[in-house]
Amino acid sequence: MESRKTDRMVFEIPVGFTAEELARFCRVKPDSPAFAVVEEALPLVLEYGKPMAVIRWVTVDRTDGDSATVDGVTFRSRVLADKLKDSPRVFLSVITAGSGLEKCEDLDGDPFLDTLNGALLGYATGWVVRTVKEKFGYDGSSMLNPGSLPDWPIANNFALFDMIGGTEEIGVTLRDNGYMRPWNTTSHIHFPGHGYQNCSLCRKYDCVGRRAPFDRREYIRIFGVEP
Ligand code: SF4
Repeated sequence: MESRKTDRMVFEIPVGFTAEELARFCRVKPDSPAFAVVEEALPLVLEYGKPMAVIRWVTVDRTDGDSATVDGVTFRSRVLADKLKDSPRVFLSVITAGSGLEKCEDLDGDPFLDTLNGALLGYATGWVVRTVKEKFGYDGSSMLNPGSLPDWPIANNFALFDMIGGTEEIGVTLRDNGYMRPWNTTSHIHFPGHGYQNCSLCRKYDCVGRRAPFDRREYIRIFGVEP
């Protein structure tokens, strides 16, 4: 379901996946013992999962070596300036797994709950990117989220939330330190670029959540120093 006002849209994201798909989002292999836990949780996730998102289209006014001005707001960030330099139009998003699963008594205190919420968030993010592609023909699969790199710190969430025009409809609030509630919520600037991943520039080399290999050459090109 979608509510729409000019350049801003709110999505109630329909939840629908198989046990295999849910397992993939949970990083559980189908032949592992944990797969039975996923199968058991699936009907609860389908019933209680209520992910939501808000997006807003914005214009990139200009980019410089270490800054980008988006919708009249200037951000100091080399990676942002580099990634947005060829994208006159981008969209912002706040996407949340919501707190639906917390309302399910059967999942109360379940150690798997956070994994399920993380899976819902991953699914919801893919849904938003896919939906925007289908509706507008826009590839927003490349994303930068505040706090993902030292060059693009979490404090940028305050400006991003102002620009997106509030998140009350999706039940997300911003804390004084720039982090969001509920916990499984992300904020992004989406732009075209062959599925750029922050991981490619992130120096947490042994991160278990890594989705792309570290790209040393690209790191040096953008930041001008050895990692
Ligand atoms: S490597 Fe890990 S910490 Fe770094 S951006 Fe990727 S998921 Fe985040």
